[in-house]
Amino acid sequence: MSSKAKILPIITIPNPILKKKSAEVEPKKISSKELQELCLNMEKTMKDKKGVGIAAPQIGKNIRLIIINTKDGGVVMFNPKIIRKSLTKEWGEEGCFSVPDVFGQVKRHKKIECEYLDKTGKKIKIKAEGLMARVIQHEIDHLDGILFIDKAVPSSKIRGGQGRS
Ligand SMILES: [Zn+2]
Repeated sequence: MSSKAKILPIITIPNPILKKKSAEVEPKKISSKELQELCLNMEKTMKDKKGVGIAAPQIGKNIRLIIINTKDGGVVMFNPKIIRKSLTKEWGEEGCFSVPDVFGQVKRHKKIECEYLDKTGKKIKIKAEGLMARVIQHEIDHLDGILFIDKAVPSSKIRGGQGRS
C-alpha cells in the first residue's frame, strides 16, 4: 500500500449523501489515478478505524465502490452485485461508522454469491458466508442509500459484536 494514502473524513447521519443511490462506475475509469488513489485512501481509512468494511458514500462519494477487510487485506469491489443468495438468513450484530455509537441486530442472508470488478477492472465472482457475507450486504446497502438502522432491531447499547463498517 502507498505510504501516501490519506485517512478520509467519514460522514455521518443525517447527511443526505448516505440516503442517495450511488452510480455505477464506468469500467474504463477504474484504472484512473483518481479512483486508484481513492481505493488506497478508503482502505487506509477503514484500517485506521479497524473497520470490517467501507463504502464510498461514507466518505462522501455516491459511486458504487466498497472495500471489505479480510485477513488477507482489503478487497476492492467496484459495482458489486449479489447474484445468488441463500434462503437461510441469520441475525447478527452490526454497527456503522456513519451511525456512531448505535448497534443493532440485523437479519442477513447467510450465504451469497457476489460479482464485482476488482481494482484492475477484472470481473470476479466470489462466494461468501457468515461475517464476510454480512459485511458485503451491509456495504452494498450503503450504495442503495440503506443504512443498517433501517433494518435493525435494537440489541443493546453495549459496544461489542462483530465490528463496525
Ligand atoms: Zn456502514
